[in-house]
Amino acid sequence: MINDVAEILVSEEEIQQHVARLAAEITEYYRGKNLMVVCVLKGSLLFTSDLVKKIDLPLEIEFMRVSSYHGKTVSSGRLETRLDVDQRDLGDYDVLAIEDIVDSGRTLAFLRDYFAGRGAKTFKCCTMLDKPDRRVIDIEPDFVGQVIPDKFVIGYGLDYGEKYRNLPFVGVLKPEVYEQK
Ligand code: IMP
Ligand code: MG
Repeated sequence: MINDVAEILVSEEEIQQHVARLAAEITEYYRGKNLMVVCVLKGSLLFTSDLVKKIDLPLEIEFMRVSSYHGKTVSSGRLETRLDVDQRDLGDYDVLAIEDIVDSGRTLAFLRDYFAGRGAKTFKCCTMLDKPDRRVIDIEPDFVGQVIPDKFVIGYGLDYGEKYRNLPFVGVLKPEVYEQK
């Protein structure tokens, strides 16, 4: 698997530094609020798992799955909910969506509108990675691990064709890996 990686962009150590800093910011911001952490599957599984361990507050964890990619490196722009937060009143909850990466911003905009529609008290997003160069919707995440250049990355939850999610770092895939498909 490592042979398919051209470059390590965020090392395991750097990831853990981002996690510690973000968890401290989130703990500070959500003190006294009613925090619901929404893990946006599948990409943010590893990040959410690391992050919640370091948030020093009572919180609830929910899962959602929104897909805009279909095994390609360019977003199709179509979004679908495949798994949803339990149907109940979210009016008392401060929802924090956890994302692996914000790219075009379509998923984040979808989530923001979705949770507004569900009546959440507040909505914010924490993302491990941010690719602002690729934004097509004017939206910014509230807590950001690291801003990265416009490169297709894999690892630490991020996939290419559902593979590579289990790499412990964030890397750039060698172009020949997706060019040969
Ligand atoms: P957006 O809706 O375009 O912001 O894209 C969000 C989703 O696209 C992420 O949750 C990822 O699943 C996927 N994505 C965007 N960029 C990358 C990348 O560089 N590698 C792997 N997946 C990506
Ligand atoms: Mg994906």
